[in-house]
Amino acid sequence: MSIKTNASGYDMCRQPGSRPLEIVQYPYPTLRHKSKPVRRVDKELRKMVDEMFELMFASKGVGLAANQVDLPVRLFLLNEAGNPDEAESHVFINPIVTRPKGSEEKEEGCLSFPELYAPVKRPASVHVSAYNLKGEEFEGEVDGLFGRIVQHETDHLDGVLFIDRLSTTATMQVKEEVETFERQFASMQERGEIPEDDAIAKRVAELEDRYC
Ligand code: ZN
Repeated sequence: MSIKTNASGYDMCRQPGSRPLEIVQYPYPTLRHKSKPVRRVDKELRKMVDEMFELMFASKGVGLAANQVDLPVRLFLLNEAGNPDEAESHVFINPIVTRPKGSEEKEEGCLSFPELYAPVKRPASVHVSAYNLKGEEFEGEVDGLFGRIVQHETDHLDGVLFIDRLSTTATMQVKEEVETFERQFASMQERGEIPEDDAIAKRVAELEDRYC
């Protein structure tokens, strides 16, 4: 599949009052948010995409969905190598995944679950169509690692996490680690290091009004 690179130049100017993006960890509520399609791409959104790329590469990730940085917009990034010098970077806006074929089980991880890995069974190939930052539509059959990232990230946009797709055995194997994430989140929220759920929901609704 051939897709143009969409990453634009990094804009150092920050709008007054905006805060830097951060990757949020499970069970941050926005990770369960089903994102609505993006209807508007403005300078601010492009800047957030640039910041998302920086975060993804700094964390050695190969994909990053907007709700992983607390943004309720239907877009994700992909770079198969996790390195801009080694592979092309892609932005998928409003992706639609169809035509699943075959089945393949591979180990997956997620930047919202640091250090947690588990085998996930997914279709071996799917068809995806999406838009880039210029509003141009692209599509193609995707398989292998690329296809797996597309499926994992599109799941994120629907509020679905890879731990939802594990076998019963794998679910039991990761249960303790998942509960540790839940406990850590609860105590950080209690200490005020993470906003309360209603404050998170309010911000998400404001961003949704702006872009969706
Ligand atoms: Zn993920």
